[in-house]
Amino acid sequence: MTAQAAFAQTSKGCTDAPVLKERGQREVFCGLTGIVWLHRKIQDAFFLVVGSRTCAHLIQSAAGVMIFAEPRFATAIMEERDLAGLADANDELDRIVGQLLERRPDIKLLFLVGSCPSEVIKLDLSRSAERLSARHSPAVRVLNYSGSGIETTFTQGEDACLASLVPELPLESADSEKSLLVVGALADVVEDQFRRLFDSLGIGRVAFLPPRRSSELPAVGPQTRYLLAQPFLGDTARALEERGAKRLDAPFPLGAEGTTAWLRAAADAWGIDADRFEAVVEAPRTRARKALEPHRFRLANKRIFFFPDSQLEIPLARFVASELGMNPLEVGTPYLHREHLGSELAQLRSDIVLSEGQDVEKQLDRCRASSPDLVVCGLGLANPLEAEGIATKWSIELLFTPIQGYEQAGDLAELFARPLVRRTKLEV
Ligand code: SF4
Repeated sequence: MTAQAAFAQTSKGCTDAPVLKERGQREVFCGLTGIVWLHRKIQDAFFLVVGSRTCAHLIQSAAGVMIFAEPRFATAIMEERDLAGLADANDELDRIVGQLLERRPDIKLLFLVGSCPSEVIKLDLSRSAERLSARHSPAVRVLNYSGSGIETTFTQGEDACLASLVPELPLESADSEKSLLVVGALADVVEDQFRRLFDSLGIGRVAFLPPRRSSELPAVGPQTRYLLAQPFLGDTARALEERGAKRLDAPFPLGAEGTTAWLRAAADAWGIDADRFEAVVEAPRTRARKALEPHRFRLANKRIFFFPDSQLEIPLARFVASELGMNPLEVGTPYLHREHLGSELAQLRSDIVLSEGQDVEKQLDRCRASSPDLVVCGLGLANPLEAEGIATKWSIELLFTPIQGYEQAGDLAELFARPLVRRTKLEV
């Protein structure tokens, strides 16, 4: 059976399952966190957080202090007098940006990233970006988005960043051939693997958003078909559709079967026949299935509980259940985008508890009561749960590690196996 058939033949799974909606206290990082992987991806971009010392600490500790490289992110720290409105924050920001661009001529794209403090004093960063763009163009383009914890959770920062890029994408000419746009930050190594697979399938015009350099912004228009590589890009998808692009419905490229079905969605849109598709994917899919085997042996029937954090939870639950035989108990997600997750939800067992949003104390009670073997959660919950004897996996690691595609399937499975192996060793 091909993976596509495997995806198509199951029942509706969790498609219409009731969702436990919670709106209580939540334990998630803010959208500034996305800078940690985005600054590595767009190599001539710089992220200037307009925030507080707390924001600066978060970014520095999440990204690690870079000693040998010139960092591509910084925080313009708003002092108390700025917050009290005693200084003109706009003048101060213009001065800091001027100094930065003078010192760093390698910067071609500057993101002003809003934070809780800049939102609270209503500093209008979109006007600042317009003003600074006019001043520094054409050498530097200045854009803005919000990473504030008031407005965004952990991965929404990437969504906001990419959505801010969409209006900057050139217009694809009306008579151009169909093109494929892969949307969502992927590690370069994963991007290169996908590009080779699309090439072998005969899908020639392929671009990635975000690009590696700001001078390589892909063109977009009614001939663009896009595949989401990440499940948390609702605003970016909406912005692309406003530009005429059409989404290819697919699960996410996690594991041997998820990757096959994701590639198949593009192959179908390009009318590539089944034999050619099989010929291209057979070898890497077999490698991926082999890489999963030892982990399936260790993880099958283990009970797993997902706290809402990265918005990767539903595709990950599908992967661990269908490709590793694990048993998801509750799958929490900060937001449930039914349309983008339709192919994933259909693969989940219908008796799994799906929850959206968070009321952390109640969720902790449900978690303890269900006695999982493994919990996937944010950093803030991991230590207390470990102290109670529950094995945890930090969801942030699933963003920092290349996990998409065939060649990474084994690494992805290992991320779930490692906490259980470590615990076994500690018990010996
Ligand atoms: Fe904290 Fe808000 Fe700054 Fe994020 S943006 S580090 S939540 S103050």
